[in-house]
Amino acid sequence: MVLGIYFLPSVLQTDFVSGAFLVSLPSAILAGCTAFAAMVAYIFTPKKQTLIPSLILYLLLVATTANLVMSTGETASPFIALWIAVALFAGVFSYTGLGIMLVVGGSYMAYAIFNNATTDSLLIAALAAFAPLVASFIIWHSKTTRDDQRDRAYQELASELSHEVNKADVVINAIDDGVVAVDKKGVIQLINPAAQRIIGWSSGDAVGLSYKSVVKLNDRQDKPVNVSNDPIEKVLADGKEFSTDELSASTESGKKVLLSIVVSPIGRPSTGAILVFRDITKAKAAEREQAEFISTASHEMRTPVASIEGYLGLAMNPSTATIDQRAQSYIQKAHESAQHLGRLFQDLLDVSKTEDGRIGNNPSVVNVVEFVAGIVEGLELKAKEKGLRFIYKPTSGARSVTDRFVAPVYYANVDNDHLREVVSNLIENAIKYTPTGDVTVDISAEEDEVTISIADSGIGIPAEDIPHLFQKFYRVDNSDTREIGGTGLGLYLCRRLAEVMGGSVRVTSEYKKGSTFYLDIPRIEAGEANRLMEEATIRAEQATVHPAITPIQPGQALPDPDVATSTPIDTAQGALLKPQSAVQPPTSTTPPAPIQPPTPPRAAVQVPVRGPGETK
Ligand code: ADP
Repeated sequence: MVLGIYFLPSVLQTDFVSGAFLVSLPSAILAGCTAFAAMVAYIFTPKKQTLIPSLILYLLLVATTANLVMSTGETASPFIALWIAVALFAGVFSYTGLGIMLVVGGSYMAYAIFNNATTDSLLIAALAAFAPLVASFIIWHSKTTRDDQRDRAYQELASELSHEVNKADVVINAIDDGVVAVDKKGVIQLINPAAQRIIGWSSGDAVGLSYKSVVKLNDRQDKPVNVSNDPIEKVLADGKEFSTDELSASTESGKKVLLSIVVSPIGRPSTGAILVFRDITKAKAAEREQAEFISTASHEMRTPVASIEGYLGLAMNPSTATIDQRAQSYIQKAHESAQHLGRLFQDLLDVSKTEDGRIGNNPSVVNVVEFVAGIVEGLELKAKEKGLRFIYKPTSGARSVTDRFVAPVYYANVDNDHLREVVSNLIENAIKYTPTGDVTVDISAEEDEVTISIADSGIGIPAEDIPHLFQKFYRVDNSDTREIGGTGLGLYLCRRLAEVMGGSVRVTSEYKKGSTFYLDIPRIEAGEANRLMEEATIRAEQATVHPAITPIQPGQALPDPDVATSTPIDTAQGALLKPQSAVQPPTSTTPPAPIQPPTPPRAAVQVPVRGPGETK
């Protein structure tokens, strides 16, 4: 602008400006130098080192403006406005800029006083020299304070974050569970010391490799996992947490370790996964030993308990024994306790069978509505004894036996014994945990699933207990259940047997209002059912023509001792692998008649005396 004012009059050959606006040659030279320096600085100054060049340019600008003001009338100069504008920017350079401008302004004031300037001139000079500096100080100081606060907050946040990261590092490095983090391509980003110890890879070797070459997972059959059962691949694909205790891993040295694994996705959508695992080889071995012990002990003890139960049955039966009234009540209590014990051993045996894979699965086609009707019929008396309304919905509209199966026909190809066991267990529970009201059994079906529901208006289950119900030995412990005996094995068994059948069990319940248990099993079409039934008939015929099984010789051991040693007094709970007639429940009022005379007891068993309320 100053150069323009200097050159334009000679370029346009007119009196473009005159008087006070006439720019002197030194001022024009200084302005030229400043403009040139500004251009050079703009082009060549590195972005992060602008402070010194800016200060030099500012000083040049101050010199140009001061010269201009001094050469065009000092306090009367029209360029005073320019000086004020320049002075306003002194604060950009903090106290250095303000200090320099203060010195320049102060020097001029001293010069003016020395030259006996008028009071007006001195006032103008003071205003022009110091007022912009005050304004500049206020503006830049408040900005600096704000910046400082922001910087401090930033520093605090950064240090807090790094503190948290350190804390997380400490935890990840200290825990005994293996932690491996992979990105969305499955490349290992982190492996903690526990993981290195379990699978035998060092962090330096593992990080950067695909998890598949480091965490070599195998299924139960010791085959490497594939796309369908690889937990990490699953989580990376669907972004949902996954856990399993069924896989093992081969360590770097080729050793096999059983793992309990939880894989969680990182971020949404998933940008990777965290694999947390624990070596459960020892725990599984201990579990197996314990299961073996329980299985052997229950098997050994069930026989004498069956004998005790049988003898007590005989003692209570008026046609086989005569006892006085008082002894009758003692023996009945002893009989109930023996029944309870027998059921406990049977449950334990069934559980150990499901756990060590001894449980069989012999599917055969079943008309579900008809089949469940048989079970319901067998348990009707039990419900009636408690004064409950027992409704079987599919046939509840039937008026006579002949139209009872007008109800829909749904077929399933499942192990009939397992189906009977689960349904009887659920119905027995419904009766047991319903003091008054209804127990309703219903059947519905989707295209590929049949659902058997057992609803009751009983004590219900608190919401916090529901997730644990199907665990082994889990019993709801509250004032409603304390008086009712049980083992906590029934629902666990139901779950395992439902899984063996390719189905599942679930529950909905409202505490104090009632519960509904559902058993879902795979459904088959009528055509498929007929085909399978024909095949089974042909097989049965062939078996009669060419019997593959040699008859058991006298004295020869029976193939399955659990079936062979069935107790004289059977309950539906102990009906696993037994014929349908086994679901006929014993009644506490009618002493059961033994099917065969009991064998003498092989070992003495202490039977705890419990109340009759403990029977199922
Ligand atoms: P239990 O031998 O104790 O009956 P289960 O495994 O059959 O063992 O059941 C586990 C627990 O679930 C029971 O102790 C009981 O508290 C609860 N439960 C099962 N069925 C019902 C039901 N129909 N209504 C209310 N609670 C039930």
